[in-house]
Amino acid sequence: MSTAADKLGTQPLDVAAVREDFPILHQSVQGKPLAYLDNAATSQKPRQVIEAVDHYYRMDNANIHRGVHTLAERATQAYEAARERMTRFINAASEEEVIFLRGTTEAINLVAQSWARPRLEPGDEILITELDHHSNIVPWQLVCEQTGAKIRAVSVKENGELDLDSFEEAIARRPRLFAVGHVSNALGTINPIKHLVERAHAHGVPVLVDGAQATPHMAVDVQALGCDFYAFSGHKMFGPTGIGVLWARRELLTEMPPWQGGGEMIKMVRLDRSIWNDLPHKFEAGTPNIAGAIGLAAAADYIESLGIDAIGAWENELLRYATVALEAIPGVRIIGTSEKKSSVISFVVDNVHPHDLGTILDSDGVAIRAGHHCAMPLMEKLDLVATARASMAFYNTQEEIDALAGAIRKAQEVLG
Ligand code: PLP
Repeated sequence: MSTAADKLGTQPLDVAAVREDFPILHQSVQGKPLAYLDNAATSQKPRQVIEAVDHYYRMDNANIHRGVHTLAERATQAYEAARERMTRFINAASEEEVIFLRGTTEAINLVAQSWARPRLEPGDEILITELDHHSNIVPWQLVCEQTGAKIRAVSVKENGELDLDSFEEAIARRPRLFAVGHVSNALGTINPIKHLVERAHAHGVPVLVDGAQATPHMAVDVQALGCDFYAFSGHKMFGPTGIGVLWARRELLTEMPPWQGGGEMIKMVRLDRSIWNDLPHKFEAGTPNIAGAIGLAAAADYIESLGIDAIGAWENELLRYATVALEAIPGVRIIGTSEKKSSVISFVVDNVHPHDLGTILDSDGVAIRAGHHCAMPLMEKLDLVATARASMAFYNTQEEIDALAGAIRKAQEVLG
């Protein structure tokens, strides 16, 4: 059977064909066709990813790097081929710079503990932003508690964009690191990373980018962005859960001590001391998520076979359509109105709590997220307790957005 991926190349997306690749989308929920609009939380997996993982467990499963038998060699080859695939996906200079970890959260914790902790002194600053996900806040709080350093945050404006004056002021204080999200999961704002990196570097400040919400939607070229660390998660970009990537410049990784100790990350162990393995293995202690890495590489293949430009164009259309549809409903207010947004719409409905809204929408088969979206400081800044969030991927349709709008109107009748 030919698939959407086979047929499309860089052509505009044939969404109906694309949807055929996603078995999970073809089901009813509460008696209604599923409209899955919770992609910023996690994305669905095409059968190409499911089959890659399935094939690995059916045919190749073995532990990697130290086996001498055929399966071990095949598993090692597939795992390292996945690393090579992800190196190309983000245009890293070398496979040595691509570390497989559990995901964005683990990647940021690794940088906080291995890179920042030995460098921070009391009074030093780590600069983050009010827009960030808890994963890019709490690891810095932990390392600040451990070292006496302090956190400062760039302000966010009412429209959900970073306040660049606040950024200039804060970066001029020369924090030890600037850690910033590429795309906001809560509002969809796309931050001007290249500009921020240039300005930070002008002050000698290295930059970590949380790319969890960027890799599913746009081409990411870490060398063009110019940043120093880039973290992302497989499950947000149509790959498996429990796998993600930390990319960092080779010279930084070389200087950093291992974060966790165990097998794989050593060259030689004696009872009194050990010698660390070469990059990237120095940061991959223990048996890694081999199947996850293979699935993630299949997800990268899938995205590139559809064409990231075609994906972006369709998602922009969905965002435009959804914005018009929601703005037409009296009592609905969209939160985050930047011109530069990925396909996320956060909104509140007068007199309806987002959680109640989410429950009623579910009864119409519409899956959205309600809550603080792991961005409590942002909610506080915007004087909100929670929002409802519809987040779209390339397999979503205008009909699903119509279902969302219809279900919101129904919820208003029931609850308003
Ligand atoms: N950063 C952002 C912007 C996110 O949206 C998320 C997940 O929601 C994370 C970090 C954490 O990702 P993970 O839970 O996969 O580690």
